[in-house]
Amino acid sequence: MVPSVTLNNGAKMPIVGLGTWRAEQGKVTEAVKVAISAGYRHIDGAYVYDNEDEVGAGIHAVIDQGVVKREELFVVSKLWCTFHIPSLVRGACEKTLSDLKLDYLDLYLMHFPMGAKPGDEIFPLDEESKLISDGSNFLDTWEAMEKLVDDGLVKAIGISNFNKDQIEAILNKPGLKYKPATNQIECHPYLTQEKLINYCHSKGISVTAYSPLGSPDRPWASSDEPSLLQEPKIKAIADKYNKSPAQVLIRFHIQRNVVVIAKSATPHRIKENFQVFDFELSEDDMKTMLSLNNNWRGFKMEWASKHKDFPLNTEY
Ligand code: NDP
Repeated sequence: MVPSVTLNNGAKMPIVGLGTWRAEQGKVTEAVKVAISAGYRHIDGAYVYDNEDEVGAGIHAVIDQGVVKREELFVVSKLWCTFHIPSLVRGACEKTLSDLKLDYLDLYLMHFPMGAKPGDEIFPLDEESKLISDGSNFLDTWEAMEKLVDDGLVKAIGISNFNKDQIEAILNKPGLKYKPATNQIECHPYLTQEKLINYCHSKGISVTAYSPLGSPDRPWASSDEPSLLQEPKIKAIADKYNKSPAQVLIRFHIQRNVVVIAKSATPHRIKENFQVFDFELSEDDMKTMLSLNNNWRGFKMEWASKHKDFPLNTEY
């Protein structure tokens, strides 16, 4: 049994999941199989990761082998920005379900608050390389996502990369039927997100931490940026518990009651990243990790900085 967080729809979301962004074609099916066989029950995916068919193949392989039943898994996907116009939402979700070969998702997230021009381009950009808006209002997108719950395509809906004001807008929406179950945000010791996490938890919204290892594989990463996996204070804490820096970075979230989704497509690391339930960081070590906060982001989302719904213009 993986420890879990109870969502506001009553469902239990396993507190550790497998991330699948940049899990290469040809490797991700195996990664999902290894993960589920090692005990993971939560898989985080998205349409835009362009690998949902392979993620689905991994899920079905372990179900067919009798390792798990569908209902024991918690499968997450995300609505991409170019499908925010309400009439496009259902088709986008159906495409994900058909790629995964599943008949429901446990959780479907609005990947970003920004809606983008529909069409074949995944990132429709203007001449300044900024995202072209579709003019939609994310409250209308949310209403279309609520229908997915009512129609049985998804068990719960949530958001990702939303700031406090944007969450508040959803919570105050006239006729709101379902509150977001989770807000998936970048979070790690360089970006501890205390205010946003406290706000979400105070409203019954769980938080999921993405890029918990600092996303060293981001295509735009540069060598002069800080590295969480190399951070001396993290290494010292890891040595103390006879654990790896990655395990300590994952454990950090568990002790904050934050769901955490590290990505790996390497079998031994997938297993390593799940060996995080047999030790506990002391209060002092948690404080040391929190004190590393410098509001550094791996995801500055510059491509969306001119969008009316860009989320990073506010304090949190
Ligand atoms: P992570 O912080 O999880 O880092 C992943 C990188 O760390 C990979 O290069 C991986 O390499 C490496 N790694 C994994 N485990 C270890 C280990 N034990 N020791 C050393 N290196 C390790 O970055 P992500 O940005 O991928 O975030 C995790 C997940 O969060 C994503 O995959 C995605 O599912 C989600 N996400 C959501 C976003 C959103 O907007 N909602 C944005 C970004 C991420 P390797 O695979 O080669 O083992």
